[in-house]
Amino acid sequence: MACRVVDLPAGRWQWQLGHRITSLAELSRFLRLSDEERAGIEAAGTRFRWALTPFVTSLMDPEDPACPIRRQFIPSAAELDTGPGEGDPLHEDRNSPVRGLVHKYPDRVIIMVTGQCAAFCRHCTRRRLVGQVDRAMTERQFLACVSYIREHEEIRDVLLTGGDPLVGGDAWLETLLRHVRAVPHVEIVRIGTRAPVVLPQRITPELCEMLGRYHPLWVNIHVNHPKEITPEMTAACDRLSRAGIPLGSQTVLLRGVNDDEATLKELCHRLVRVRVRPYYLYQCDTVAGTSHFWTPVERGLELVSSLRGWTTGLCVPAFVVDSPLGKIQLAPQNLVAREGDSVLLRGYTGETCLVHNPVPAPA
Ligand SMILES: *Cc1c(COP(=O)(O)O)cnc(C)c1O
Repeated sequence: MACRVVDLPAGRWQWQLGHRITSLAELSRFLRLSDEERAGIEAAGTRFRWALTPFVTSLMDPEDPACPIRRQFIPSAAELDTGPGEGDPLHEDRNSPVRGLVHKYPDRVIIMVTGQCAAFCRHCTRRRLVGQVDRAMTERQFLACVSYIREHEEIRDVLLTGGDPLVGGDAWLETLLRHVRAVPHVEIVRIGTRAPVVLPQRITPELCEMLGRYHPLWVNIHVNHPKEITPEMTAACDRLSRAGIPLGSQTVLLRGVNDDEATLKELCHRLVRVRVRPYYLYQCDTVAGTSHFWTPVERGLELVSSLRGWTTGLCVPAFVVDSPLGKIQLAPQNLVAREGDSVLLRGYTGETCLVHNPVPAPA
């Protein structure tokens, strides 16, 4: 399946996109596929778009079907079990005043600038939109979003997401950034991407130089497992950081991929070593076709509790459950009781102590 990239001819990242693996026959040249994976590709691979960059394929353990990279990117027959989930559990479509733009919070919006991705995550929250057509937003469609932002002076933060905005070419992306930056009340721009993980070649010096002209710009990277922090990803993050772009990570809690303390701790440690600040740990959204990845909400709470205090504060993401109301943070309840001039608080080890707080509690 050929990918139509928005602009630019040859180059290493375009080669990666042009040589994506999209068939069982091709993939079985690189991996010893299990019967379950073969069945998954045949049954579910057409239901939600399936494609792998050669780079992300190279991260897969050729022998082990339990490999966390394989689990995230190879279709599974479990995706056909759409009963337990919903198409749009976060009610994004209902909160979309202009096509492609979601306005759920008072001061910020997201714009889904493309339905394309370099590789398609099997746990994708936007599988209703992503991977349907190899098409990015046109300048005209984007301008309709920018008009909405112009009319809403309360919007100070614009997040470009998708799909993956970095699958588009530099010129297209720069056009979007120029338009959004021309709105005086937009203070910060953010980009959400998985390119450093699945297509690190995309983070070229030219891209970084261009992005650096649109500051303040922040980038959040979707990273789920320590295996994703490769030398290539590290170099890509370094280039972005040197362009003055603060990096954060968004990790989705996935059963069988990262739902254990050791994996998550190693991930968070490795992220800060490559100067990526763990931002959010997401409860997996209950999107139809993803139920094999779900964990109980309590598990996420346990996992963040296993980090907080036990390691550097910078390594600890906020655990959030996304919802029609927006993201809801869950944190351990550490305020145990008020006792006169003090509060009884629970520390990270589980012990409690009285902390002096001689101010009356609000009525
Ligand atoms: C996640 C999200 C944002 C950004 O949320 P932050 O907590 O500011 O990172 C904005 N709008 C929508 C619709 C979102 O889903």
